Amino acid sequence: MRKYSFRGGIHPLRDTHEGKELTRNKPIREVVAQVVRIPMDMHIGAPSEPIVKKGDRVLIGQKIAEAVGGIGVPVHASVSGTVTEVAAYQMMHKKPSMCITIENDGLEEWVQLAPLGDVETAAADKIIPAVKEAGICGMGGACFPTHIKMSPPAGKVVDTVLLNGAECETFLTADFRLMLEQPERVVNGLRAVMRAMGVKRGIICIEDNKPEAIQAITKAAAGREGVEVGTLKTKYPQGGEKQLIYSVLGREVPAGGLPMDAGVVVLNVGTAAAIADAVIEGKPLISRVTTISGAVAAPDNLLLRIGTLLKDAAEACGGYAKEPGKIFVGGSMTGVCAPNDEASISKANNGLVVFDEKDAQLPDESSCIRCGRCIDACPVWLNPYQMKRDYQLGKLDEMEKKLHVMECVLCGSCSYVCPARQYLTPAFKDAKDIITARRMKQ
Ligand code: SF4
Ligand code: SF4
Repeated sequence: MRKYSFRGGIHPLRDTHEGKELTRNKPIREVVAQVVRIPMDMHIGAPSEPIVKKGDRVLIGQKIAEAVGGIGVPVHASVSGTVTEVAAYQMMHKKPSMCITIENDGLEEWVQLAPLGDVETAAADKIIPAVKEAGICGMGGACFPTHIKMSPPAGKVVDTVLLNGAECETFLTADFRLMLEQPERVVNGLRAVMRAMGVKRGIICIEDNKPEAIQAITKAAAGREGVEVGTLKTKYPQGGEKQLIYSVLGREVPAGGLPMDAGVVVLNVGTAAAIADAVIEGKPLISRVTTISGAVAAPDNLLLRIGTLLKDAAEACGGYAKEPGKIFVGGSMTGVCAPNDEASISKANNGLVVFDEKDAQLPDESSCIRCGRCIDACPVWLNPYQMKRDYQLGKLDEMEKKLHVMECVLCGSCSYVCPARQYLTPAFKDAKDIITARRMKQ
């Protein structure tokens, strides 16, 4: 069997352990929170505008915030109950996020839904509007509004949809369990996207360390028009969009370009499952599978309502095993460090990984020995040690124009392999933020 791969990357499993063993055999378990605090800025683009106020009663799936601007998506209530607050809280972004807090009444009452029907017979031109109305954005961590991805501008020809089931990040097994337990939802979502976009080829891409998922998806995909299953070599960051496209199709996304510039749309398998729900059942995105792992008493894969507080998610897994030092939302390689456990699970949060105080400590940096390991590990062919040197010298123009730091996908592979423990990725994140802010001012 052919296994797809790319240049560079790392193998966390071979070097130490990747943490997936903590939850890979844990079936998805639904946990419904008593209180949800739903942020308005869970997607890329302008934050949504609340349309409910304190004291309002809401039903599950009811729209509680409208999309704003060209690439916004609406937000829906994830529990039935009473709105207790509309206020700003510190979430994962630099600035506080406007949030709607709902006290769950436990009645589980849904709003009236308007399904389109079976993905093979539903009106194709109604699918993209339904995806937008369902508030779906990239559930693999990217948060990009999905209806925009599915609507390439005139002149861009997309001939392939790739479903990303690589889940190459350490600790995370949410996508694995979804593919294993609910493969039909994933395949149905892919078919809905293919029909809506008029694309004939769809490939569900899964790393070879998930043979059970490959088997389940292959079975569910049998006989479905244009649907293939692609086996990827287990390597981090195989799930990066550019790496995935290169691995599977041998196509390169041009610098500064998007997957559609290579004729491809890439969606996470969880996003596909949400699309299937929107089309077949008319359900908006109100819950997601999230791996809760690391220093919690009983790591698990939970189906959580959007807006569940991190502390409640940890509590549902027996609480913290040790005093937390860092809480990553996402995996430990690309996840964002939460400000505290009062933040909430958003549409894009596929994991919550807790490090105790000892594991959270960063080793001391020592001088670069110019070994070149960071260059070998970089999946986008950058020169991390030279970028770090220019960062320290404040040469951001050089980083941008000569060393192409904006192409850095912040995967952390260079930091991971560096024997000098150089803080490489944080420096590149900072440089990218500064350059982006500068560009926006111009
Ligand atoms: S891996 Fe670390 S020590 Fe080696 S060249 Fe890169 S920055 Fe320097
Ligand atoms: S963090 Fe950036 S520079 Fe480092 S390996 Fe990943 S893409 Fe390359």
